[in-house]
Formats: sequence, C-alpha cells, structure tokens
Amino acid sequence: MKIYHRKIKRSSRGELLIDDDKLFSQVIKKQRGEGCEIHFGTKCDRVGNMHLLGKASHPRLRYCPENIVRACWFGAHFWTHHDSENDKAVNARKRILEIKGFQTWGELKDHLLKIEAMAEKHTNFYLNMKKAQLEQELKGA
Ligand SMILES: [Zn+2]
Repeated sequence: MKIYHRKIKRSSRGELLIDDDKLFSQVIKKQRGEGCEIHFGTKCDRVGNMHLLGKASHPRLRYCPENIVRACWFGAHFWTHHDSENDKAVNARKRILEIKGFQTWGELKDHLLKIEAMAEKHTNFYLNMKKAQLEQELKGA
C-alpha cells in the first residue's frame, strides 16, 4: 500500500503569527531604534524582540510592547533562557528593570500580569486585526 504524504501546509493561524511577529518586530525597531536596549548600542549581534514573560505561558502578551525589550541573542537573550544565573542574564534583568522603571522583578511581573488580565485572547480574528494595525503603524499612520 502506498502512503501519500500530504504536502505540509502551515495553518492560516501559523502564518498569521509569523506575519504578525515580523511586523511587530519592525514596529518595535522603528520606535526604539536598531540597537540593543540592554547594552545601549548597535554593536550587538542578532538584536531582536525578547519577551519578558514568555510567549508560551503568556500568549496574550505576545504583542504587548511593555513585555518587550530589544536584546541581542548571545549577550543577553540566550542566557535568560539557558542559564538565568549567568552574569549576562543577571545584567540583562538589572537593565530591564531600569528600562521599564521598576525596582524588582516581582513588581514588573505584577504589572505585566495586570495587562495580561485585560488583554484579549489572540483569536484568528484578533490576529488579522493586529496585522492591519501593525501595517498602519509601519506606514506611520
Ligand atoms: Zn546587546
């Protein structure tokens, strides 16, 4: 018996998330500049959006600017995922508190959780609306 493999097709939801992630990164970059916010500069490699509260556990904060810092991968972001006690991770957290204007990580987290409690569920409808909104923001509207 022959097994037919269906061509792998991304769900429309997967495509929407990819599109929205890309647009959201561009909007944050437009607002905050090219550089890494952790190290005050443009010398860092692979600078991108770092979510303070992770996307998997906090999906409604995926496109929340307050939950984002622009951080380089090997100078900051990587360590917060893989070794939170590493100096680079410790420094990143300290700098994030400065950027966000909080004294402790607990206060920052509480603040973000309050935003999450009011945030909408990211249905496909929401993701489509978000896409249009982000496109407008990029155009400068
Ligand atoms: Zn950096």
